Amino acid sequence: MFQSFLIKYGEIAIKGKNRYIFEDALVAGLKHALKPVDGEFEVTKEQGRIYVDAISDYDYEEAIDAMTRVFGVVGVCPMVQVEDHGFEQLAKDVLEYLDKVYPDKHKTFKVNSRRARKNYPMDSQEINMELGGIILDAYPDMKVDVHNPDIMLNIEIRNKINIYSIVIPGPGGMPSGTAGKAMLLLSGGIDSPVAGYMIAKRGVKIDAVYFHAPPYTSERAKQKVVDLARLVSRYSGTMNLHVVNFTDIQLYIYEQCPHEELTIIMRRYMMKIAEHFANENNCLGLITGERIGQLASQTMQSLAATNEVCTMPVYRPCIALDKNEIIAISEKIGTYETSILPFEDCCTIFVAKHPVTKPNLNFIKKSELKLQEKIDQLVQEAIETTEVIRIEA
Ligand code: ATP
Ligand code: MG
Repeated sequence: MFQSFLIKYGEIAIKGKNRYIFEDALVAGLKHALKPVDGEFEVTKEQGRIYVDAISDYDYEEAIDAMTRVFGVVGVCPMVQVEDHGFEQLAKDVLEYLDKVYPDKHKTFKVNSRRARKNYPMDSQEINMELGGIILDAYPDMKVDVHNPDIMLNIEIRNKINIYSIVIPGPGGMPSGTAGKAMLLLSGGIDSPVAGYMIAKRGVKIDAVYFHAPPYTSERAKQKVVDLARLVSRYSGTMNLHVVNFTDIQLYIYEQCPHEELTIIMRRYMMKIAEHFANENNCLGLITGERIGQLASQTMQSLAATNEVCTMPVYRPCIALDKNEIIAISEKIGTYETSILPFEDCCTIFVAKHPVTKPNLNFIKKSELKLQEKIDQLVQEAIETTEVIRIEA
């Protein structure tokens, strides 16, 4: 029954002079999300309101699913839009609306009208009172509750009149592309896709880098990361995934350095290479899925040692979350099932039995001196042979 949707957005409404930039980004995000949906849609901006109109038959569930994934959207309100043919006609339209949307009338309601067009002959208080009375007469099972109604019936008098009462929550956040770009270190695990989602939610565009170590890591492990990138891009928009061949670097570190330091040294090289691609792609930061205490490589000492190679800010949005909190987000955004597929990522193969948990940066740097002969060349080769995969949602 709905042909139109009113899009509610919160935070971006307060951005003053930049408001139009945020609204335009939100419009673009909605258009992008609706592209694969069955049906034709028009997204328009009008007097501080964003509307989505279906201009053909369309799939309601799919459309809602797409719109409620767009960052910046606080709520999607399916609405009925009618022409102004006088108050009597409006009252009829409202009764018809309630009848269709709420076949069961045992509900409380409140009329919440807003007169954006001041030449309408009644003010909002009068509209509330009059409509309330008409509804009570027509549907005796309905009752008024002005504090906590089951149905908040919104009537907006503009050039046309919007009638809506359903608000389907969106993700909130800021529209994609309003905050610059960052490079996500994306593994096949649970945490990094969640980290990418969280930062993208603040309006940041995402590119990604994955360190692949064939034959120690399989094609299926790589495919899993491609799949995760695609799932994240359903929210964050198209991204470039850099697949770095990390095998030779890993083997070289394995040959030259103490095995208990391998993970830390390897992670330092991952960060360096990620930062290279971040610079090349105009990113303003790196993103990882690290969490304090999660593994030997994620004690505060290890994080400090890893961080030391970076000159860019490293965003770690999962840092303080517990596993179950991460899993909850991962399930909500639809990455969990893919993340738990049992394909090894490159770290698991070379992990030492007893990795250092409190690395001393001086020792690490000393060990890294043993890499002097070949490491620059290997890093260069890894960069040059990197495969870039375009990920479309
Ligand atoms: P995740 O669940 O994201 O895999 P994790 O708990 O397994 O994380 P680590 O393996 O220590 O923890 O990795 C920490 C972070 O380092 C990851 O969240 C990710 O950002 C990055 N990372 C680890 N391995 C890779 C990889 N092969 N390619 C790209 N990034 C990686
Ligand atoms: Mg992992």
